[in-house]
Amino acid sequence: MCRGNVTAAVRVRREIISRIREEARQTPEQECCGLLAGRDGIITRVLPARNALESATAFEIAPAELFQLMRQIRGEDLEMLGIYHSHPRGENRPSPRDVASAFYSEAAYFIVSPLDDAAHPVRAFLIRDGRFTELQIEIS
Ligand SMILES: [Zn+2]
Repeated sequence: MCRGNVTAAVRVRREIISRIREEARQTPEQECCGLLAGRDGIITRVLPARNALESATAFEIAPAELFQLMRQIRGEDLEMLGIYHSHPRGENRPSPRDVASAFYSEAAYFIVSPLDDAAHPVRAFLIRDGRFTELQIEIS
C-alpha cells in the first residue's frame, strides 16, 4: 500500500471556530464541551453540552445528554463529525486523559484555548490507538 506524505484535514465553517472560541472564553472556570456536526465532511453545527465533571482540567458529557445530542444530530439529517472542549489553563493539545477517553476514532477532537497569547487557539486532532495526530483545519 502506498502512503503519501499527506496531512489529514478537517473542514469547518468559519463561524464554528468563532462560536467555540467564544464559548471557551465565557467558561474560564471549567472546560466547555460539545459536539460538532455537519454533512459531506464539513462541520456546520455546534451542539454545546454540559461538562458533567464541572472541572477546569477534564470534561465528560453525561451519557443521557450524549444520547439526546446524537438523536438531535440524526434528526437534522447530519453526522457527528467532531467533539470539542477547551483547556482553560493548559496548552491546547490532548491530555493523557483525553487520549485515554477518546472513543470516536473517526471524529475530529477540537481543543480550544481561551488564552489571548495562545499560538493556535483552536487545534484539531485524531485520537486513536492511544496516540494523537494533528489535523489541519480548513475553513470552508
Ligand atoms: Zn482535554
